[in-house]
Amino acid sequence: MQLQLKAVLTAAPNGVQLRHRTERFTSRSTCLVFAVGNVLARRISAAGVAGMTHARNPKIAPRSIYDLPSALAREVELDEHLRGKELAVFLDYDGTLTYIAERPALASLSKNMRAIIASLAKRCTVTVVSGRDREDVEDLVGLDNVIYAGNHGFDIAAPNNVAVRREEGMEFTERLARVASDLQKELAGFKGVLIETKKASVAVHYRQVTAETRKEVPLVVARTLEQHPELRLTHGKMVCEIQPKVDWDKGRTVLFLLEALGLDTPDVIPIYVGDDITDEDAFRALKGRGIGVFVGNDSEDGFDERKTSADYIIGDPSEVGRLLERLAR
Ligand SMILES: [Mg+2]
Repeated sequence: MQLQLKAVLTAAPNGVQLRHRTERFTSRSTCLVFAVGNVLARRISAAGVAGMTHARNPKIAPRSIYDLPSALAREVELDEHLRGKELAVFLDYDGTLTYIAERPALASLSKNMRAIIASLAKRCTVTVVSGRDREDVEDLVGLDNVIYAGNHGFDIAAPNNVAVRREEGMEFTERLARVASDLQKELAGFKGVLIETKKASVAVHYRQVTAETRKEVPLVVARTLEQHPELRLTHGKMVCEIQPKVDWDKGRTVLFLLEALGLDTPDVIPIYVGDDITDEDAFRALKGRGIGVFVGNDSEDGFDERKTSADYIIGDPSEVGRLLERLAR
């Protein structure tokens, strides 16, 4: 009952906004027809997505990074696998399309990468899925034929001709701002901490904190969050992410979009490329259905211990560029 109610709420004007319109989004992607009447038929709902997750997400144990084949070394195999199929490409931003910067504001997209993504988006549906606020990542990517899923997929918006919109967890915005303010006080003694208050999450970046005290930052964040059982803490690369404790993540986002865009068919192969812990939800969601490409190399802290549900590995954003160029052909 709760799930049914959520489905209806999701389809309300403030949740999924759909317009009666048919347009061609890209040269090879499906013509997308959206009408309010087919919202529920398409089951753009938490219930539908949850069902897909379970159906497609058998408990496959994550494996060591060192067991992954290189996506570039297996180009021929990949080409073979993708031949004749339509693609739906999902891209993380930081560490995937750009190198990780000392501060988030410095991670700008290169002209070359922008051109590659623009060219890929002419061939298939491309979504950028980021922990950043949606507006932030939209500005950074600067392309209007790409779908943006900000705040780890809590805030999804598409170009005007692809009327799909979804927001999750926005009722937590004020509470998250209060938590950010508490964290400012608790972490005042740590020089270099950067607290980013976003619409549906708070990020505590500690890359610039001295190596001796860096380890303490996540402990202070965890202690502060003990007062907020409605929030959850996840750990990324030198960043603590605080999100509403709701059943939504990058994996749910990918499955939601595939269904909402009519791309949930055997003719479509979804590909997700990402480097962070939060991208694992998407790799898991696509297991047995699409292709997960993990981005990283052994120069990074924690690489050796990393376990992943991705299918392939790629070393860094410049190699991501090579992969995307190939997919765009
Ligand atoms: Mg990333």
